[in-house]
Amino acid sequence: MSANHTRILHREPSRDLPVAMSGDGPFVIDSAGKRYLDASGGAAVSCLGHSERRVIEAIKAQLDRLPYAHTGFFTNEPAEALADHLIERAPEGLGHVYFVSGGSEANETAMKLARQYFFERGETGRRHFIARRQSYHGNTIAALSVGGNAGRRAIYEPILLPASHIAPCFEYRHRRSDEASEEYGIRAADELEAEILRLGPETVIAFIAETVVGATAGAVPPAPGYFRRIREICDRYGVLLILDEVMSGMGRTGTLYGCEQDGIAPDILTCAKGLGAGYQPIGATILSERIFDTITGGSGAFQHGFTYIGHATAAAGALAVQRVIEEDGLLENCRLMGARLKERLGEAFASHPRIGDIRGRGLFIGVELVEDRETKKPFDPALRLHARIKAAAMEEGLMVYPAGGTVDGRAGDHVLVAPPFIIGEGHVGMIVEKLQRAVAAATAAAG
Ligand code: PLP
Repeated sequence: MSANHTRILHREPSRDLPVAMSGDGPFVIDSAGKRYLDASGGAAVSCLGHSERRVIEAIKAQLDRLPYAHTGFFTNEPAEALADHLIERAPEGLGHVYFVSGGSEANETAMKLARQYFFERGETGRRHFIARRQSYHGNTIAALSVGGNAGRRAIYEPILLPASHIAPCFEYRHRRSDEASEEYGIRAADELEAEILRLGPETVIAFIAETVVGATAGAVPPAPGYFRRIREICDRYGVLLILDEVMSGMGRTGTLYGCEQDGIAPDILTCAKGLGAGYQPIGATILSERIFDTITGGSGAFQHGFTYIGHATAAAGALAVQRVIEEDGLLENCRLMGARLKERLGEAFASHPRIGDIRGRGLFIGVELVEDRETKKPFDPALRLHARIKAAAMEEGLMVYPAGGTVDGRAGDHVLVAPPFIIGEGHVGMIVEKLQRAVAAATAAAG
């Protein structure tokens, strides 16, 4: 069996994909028996690797008890227990959870919750969302509308919703050489205030941003102080702050949520990938008590819903994932191995003429490729360097998550490295060696 023999519509149907057959810790094994070290967690999903028995057993046990019960009739124990677990550890002020099946649904839910919050308050003129050009919030129409991924937006532009986009906070590309990081963070955040004033504060619903930008830019952390200033601006104008931690959440950055490291709490936080770690499809929209109280004290019903919200088996799987992370001290390992991996990548690529930047938090690391290290000139997008690196890495038996294209008006190629939290020193060494060989092969072929 190969992609040419399947009826599944993949993103690139003409590509012939290997067939994944089994998992062994951080490795995926294909039908030819080849082992791939999963150094991207798929797309920053598989934080426990691919064979965690405690999660598999919890899912089986839930299936034996009750696979699913529609939330129009019942709540269920695993979903309630998972909500308790999340709220006990959530940023301040967040008090309720809406469970969905993935990241796009979580962000759609967040945007609709935010709109209904103002509707309940009689602020029906609030209709605008502000986001950043360098961002990805999912593929459904509203999520794509606020996203900044030019490639994914292109053919849908005429049917997307109007949304405002400000510049991202991206020190490597946008900080001036005469500017301290903190100064730059304030300058970048102040673009939000200008945009709110341009639109009219009484018309703005929310600002949505990834805490650490994942797929579109390669693990770009905010400058120090950026999100504190963003929080102040949102509060000044009564605008809600939605943080998309679909990729950066659930421990990926070394703390449960990336925003803990920025010292702020959003009004709504979304998470997905690491929540179920790939064992089940699940996402969550975590909302403030204030939003919950406004809706329950107003019309009393959230005008939104999906068939699989609060899915019992998905929740049981996710709860088991979160318990394993705590029992095994995996946040600590994520911080330790993340620091080690960044250090080793730094050593390996210290004098590499094509590596411009290595950045990130925890096991969420981005490596940016440039044609010229001094000028930071990116490679010609037509070369599709990121795709070449992905192919060369797969040859090496390494899964990484490269991306490229025009983002924020600039071309650029990067490799996202986001391995499972269970890796040890040996895996770190393998990732670095295999990636070095893949980058060498791809950049040599690109000229
Ligand atoms: N938000 C972010 C930050 C993401 O990285 C993604 C997926 O890559 C999404 C939202 C969409 O999630 P999903 O693909 O589960 O719908």
